[in-house]
Amino acid sequence: MNPLPSDDHVHSRFSFDAFEGDMEGTCRRAVELGLPAVSFTEHVDLEAWSAPPGGWNWPAGVRGSVDGHGRFLAAPLEVEAYVAEVERCRDLFGNLRIRLGIELDAGHRHRDEVADLLRRQGFERIVGSIHALPDLAAPGEFLEVDPAYAQRSALDVVLSYWAEVRDMVEADVPFHVLGHVDYPLRHWPADLPVPWDEFEEPLRHTLSVLAVSGRALEVNTSLPLDLRVVRWWREEGGRDLAFGSDAHSPGELARRFGEVAPAVEALGFRPAADPTQLWWA
Ligand SMILES: [Zn+2]
Ligand SMILES: [Zn+2]
Repeated sequence: MNPLPSDDHVHSRFSFDAFEGDMEGTCRRAVELGLPAVSFTEHVDLEAWSAPPGGWNWPAGVRGSVDGHGRFLAAPLEVEAYVAEVERCRDLFGNLRIRLGIELDAGHRHRDEVADLLRRQGFERIVGSIHALPDLAAPGEFLEVDPAYAQRSALDVVLSYWAEVRDMVEADVPFHVLGHVDYPLRHWPADLPVPWDEFEEPLRHTLSVLAVSGRALEVNTSLPLDLRVVRWWREEGGRDLAFGSDAHSPGELARRFGEVAPAVEALGFRPAADPTQLWWA
């Protein structure tokens, strides 16, 4: 059996919502599991999100501020402290490749701030992702995907999400891997079957745009990503593929990798000669 792939989407306490994050504990777990590499991809969320209908109900420990309009803005990434902790862990775990990365939310809408950040600090891995949709009740504002289900049909939430993803991919935004293309399905209504037939054409289109951009697709194992999406990625010309648990605590590291990686391999993707690098087809 092959060793598990690298986990290239991991949060620690430097992410505003990973209050159970523990970088040293995550690295120790990576060594126990035999992972070749772990990429910390701490949140960079530059957008304020409209308040959901019931108001904010974050778990204790989430860091951010609510402005006079009720909008939530995540606490900014503490770059120097984050870099120092990565360096401390590299000293502790010399045989583990530890990448300094970020998960950049909607970078195409915040180009100047992104450019400023990247001038201050380079990152080895940038996961680009979307977490919010245009707020239909407040033009120009954005609402997280979960409460967006109260404003739109379930189908429209998902189709609008992929439209946002395409805008981000087609923009000249610096990121390497598209994170959790299935993110809205995390909040899909439990009593509705997922209409994969209706999803196929728009999702294939989104994947083909990503393939043309030369970026990688992430198999996010939080749900996990449906394997037909991996097949469509290959058929639409996608080459590179990352695995990401989206762990927010050490115990979630590499979740489901043992089942998902062989299934992805059966679809034609394989590890690179250097196991710390992306898989490819
Ligand atoms: Zn995310
Ligand atoms: Zn994440």
